[in-house]
Amino acid sequence: MIAASLVSGYRIYEAKEGLNIGTAEPVMLALNPSFANAVSTSIWQHSPSSLTRPPTGELEEYLPSEVFSPRNVILIVGDALRASRMSLFGHDRKTTPFLDAMHDSGNLHLTTRAHSICSESFCGLLGLSTARFVHQIPSTSPNLAQVLRMHGYRVELILGGDHTNFYGLADALGPYDSFWDGTMSNGYLNNDRAVLEKAANLPAFRGTPILMQFHLMSSHALGQRNEPFVSFSPVANYYLRHRLPADPGQAQEWSRNFYDNGVLQLDHTVKELLKTLENLGYLQNSIVVITSDHGEMLGEHGIFGHAFTVRQPALDIPLILMRFGFQGEPIATDRLPSQADVAPTILAELDIQPPAGWSGRALQGAETLDFSFFQQAEEIGLFDHRDEAGIWKFWINMKSQQQYAYRLETDPSEDQNVVQEVPYALRQEWMELLVRDRLRSPAVSEPAP
Ligand SMILES: [Zn+2]
Repeated sequence: MIAASLVSGYRIYEAKEGLNIGTAEPVMLALNPSFANAVSTSIWQHSPSSLTRPPTGELEEYLPSEVFSPRNVILIVGDALRASRMSLFGHDRKTTPFLDAMHDSGNLHLTTRAHSICSESFCGLLGLSTARFVHQIPSTSPNLAQVLRMHGYRVELILGGDHTNFYGLADALGPYDSFWDGTMSNGYLNNDRAVLEKAANLPAFRGTPILMQFHLMSSHALGQRNEPFVSFSPVANYYLRHRLPADPGQAQEWSRNFYDNGVLQLDHTVKELLKTLENLGYLQNSIVVITSDHGEMLGEHGIFGHAFTVRQPALDIPLILMRFGFQGEPIATDRLPSQADVAPTILAELDIQPPAGWSGRALQGAETLDFSFFQQAEEIGLFDHRDEAGIWKFWINMKSQQQYAYRLETDPSEDQNVVQEVPYALRQEWMELLVRDRLRSPAVSEPAP
């Protein structure tokens, strides 16, 4: 099926090359009427087992770095953790007191918002693991776990929630030496207390470097809310629509209270987790990365939840990095990184070369992407990072052919679709990229001299 999809994608590209793209709107329809169907045939319809290992080539070609810094890597993913609902990123409610305190004491070496490559768990987690965009997955490059295993690391996955029955995610994130997920707990599978218990029962660190990936459900609407963390009220779980108040404003307020309680609980869970790992010796020489698989809609544009849209709240994720046991320069970034940049940024902390096929770029380096991409079902789009006046966000709905363009700096809630004000040549360039990049790697800027 993957091969068939690639072949059909290639045919579409060939068809595009044969057309005079500049003569008619809408461009997508001019390309090929079947394009919409082909592009929305994304990784969801592929067999997850085929995502487990690269089929050929690049795995053997990748050469491990001979000299590197074998630091432990602790990757903590908060499910549906949206940056703008964290006080660390300016939310007016105190939802992340632990991370705020770490920031104030200078212990966060990178604190930035980023964007996810899609708005659901499966592709978001693959974006973290493969350092690629949705349309470039499955990848023939080794993923983060494979790269680290080639450098002598153990891989330990401790994942709240169901990663066994849900798309076969466990296989896609591996290879691993040890795996646990919420389906193996005695109680509710989305309770982060079980993750903390699992961590507390780990053996003490024995000297072999390790990649530990944790998945926390506290910030997800299905995550168990444990009583001490209910701080904002009244609440309503927006996954249970029939329980929401009829008044839209009230429904939004109650939903946001419910969500913010989850963020508060997540912050506390991270604190407890790090305390446990420190006591077991895993933080002596390590990096801790806290991020998310995707964001969450909380009533913006009338949408609650995720997996429906590429609206900014659904792509808005945190990217936080802490160093333990070693010094280094703070990592500054003035761009909006992508989820695909996370794995290269991790490898840079270990002085390990990334695989050639990775699309993301380490934030410690001077090389930056001109474009980063996102997709959710029939909505495909890009961020254009080239304009110093600010980032453009552009997407097209492949079914309706409707186009959307926003300046996030001045219109963060995406209220004003300014696509008609975008110069035609620029819009045309974006459209061509969205087609071309179904098949090619994104353009990259040369490092500044
Ligand atoms: Zn998720």
